[in-house]
Amino acid sequence: MIASTNPATGKIEKSFTPHTDAEVDLAIAKSAAAFAQLKETTITQRAAWMHKAADLLEEDAAHFGGLMTMEMGKPLDQAVGEAKKCALACRYYADNAADIMADEPVKTERTKSFRRVLPLGPVLAVMPWNYPFWQVVRFAAPALMAGNTGLLKHASNVPQCALALEALFTRAGFPADCFQTLLIGGSKVERILRDPRIVAATLTGSEPAGASVASICGQEIKPTLLELGGSDAFIIMPSADLDAAINVAVDSRTKNNGQSCIAAKRFIIHADIYDDVRDRLVAAFEALTVGDPMKEGTDIGPLVNDDAVKDLTSQVETAITQGARRVVGGKAIDKDGSWFQPGIIENVTSEMDVYSQEMFGPVVMLFKVDSLNDAIVLANDSTFGLGSSIFTQDDAEMEQAFTEIEAGSTFVNAMTASDPRLPFGGIKRSGYGRELAREGLLTFCNVKTCVVA
Ligand code: NDP
Repeated sequence: MIASTNPATGKIEKSFTPHTDAEVDLAIAKSAAAFAQLKETTITQRAAWMHKAADLLEEDAAHFGGLMTMEMGKPLDQAVGEAKKCALACRYYADNAADIMADEPVKTERTKSFRRVLPLGPVLAVMPWNYPFWQVVRFAAPALMAGNTGLLKHASNVPQCALALEALFTRAGFPADCFQTLLIGGSKVERILRDPRIVAATLTGSEPAGASVASICGQEIKPTLLELGGSDAFIIMPSADLDAAINVAVDSRTKNNGQSCIAAKRFIIHADIYDDVRDRLVAAFEALTVGDPMKEGTDIGPLVNDDAVKDLTSQVETAITQGARRVVGGKAIDKDGSWFQPGIIENVTSEMDVYSQEMFGPVVMLFKVDSLNDAIVLANDSTFGLGSSIFTQDDAEMEQAFTEIEAGSTFVNAMTASDPRLPFGGIKRSGYGRELAREGLLTFCNVKTCVVA
């Protein structure tokens, strides 16, 4: 079903008739035709449209934020912030695409050798609901600036965000059909990937969805980028500024109602400060306001749907049965909508199921270690490798973390966060490829070698 269901109430606000195969085929044909047109436009022209898209994101941030909160439940101030962050990404690429795409001379013994960056064509983007605007814009802004066109298959529970995004780029002035939304379920994706007019795919979401898209594209010899799950380590060492560490840790684990791939999920704490940190975290978790995401002052809204509440509850209860200790919360809240009390568990061991799982909601696992070496071994004992954080004042510890933590990013004395100017992505089962920054634009381009004898 393609529908907006408000997770705060459980009410279906609006449902949509999915696009038929014929409508999808028409959209692909239009995307191919739009590519022929877009690649002939100048970067200066595309930058003007992209700046206009940024203006619209800023002007309509309250409206876009309201759509996000209604469809997936994040607190309204965070949703409005997301729309504004999208504007930053649009401006970054509007301002930097010309430099990133400029011919780059290479010294060889030939008369002339250089790299030229060229667009590839229509790209399919399969996107999740958790950051319904940001995930899409961080693909769309570089893709459109490069001259590619985009087809968006958004998560089935955020159709109004998906349609608003399609309208955004048209309103900004991009030629019709440069960025289109397909209202389809996941089972319709294979047909699109096998269409020769689609040249590449990007997916942000779960491992099974990523594996499916990548294996189909493998058969079709089409490039993919995957941004999948994570179970990021958040290490706290004795030298850390503990007030800052606690604030950032709580923010990282509970932002977006705890449903973020780069949320700090495993708190790895040095034994010397473990009890103190745990007590402070408990106080901070007890002080969180869980409630109406439309209301100012709410820290945490509902989870995305009832299944999310069931899955998270089951992960916590299984861990408790297997010997973990519930420090605080971590239970479903019994009222209409999809509500969950944020929680903390400790004494988690490698034999427990939850040790190697991602918890996609506001539950922290605490681990006690005796040294940074032990912390890094634990951090790396994961199939995931998305982000990581460490709080320390020790330069040598910072350096060790940068080099030894197996992840796509390491943030010192800060939470893992995406930034249009910095590459973003994971290693191991968190996926491959990089979005944002220079790398994000080049991902779906032909970096062509040009040589004159
Ligand atoms: P899903 O993988 O179920 O959904 C993501 C998107 O993939 C949706 O559009 C979905 O469509 C589509 N999809 C699902 N199955 C298939 C399939 N077999 N073939 C093609 N498309 C498919 O993920 P969730 O919605 O459950 O999102 C949460 C997961 O995503 C978590 O594991 C999280 O960590 C990860 N994630 C990673 C991020 C990152 O940047 N690395 C960011 C956000 C989330 P439909 O809705 O129609 O099922």
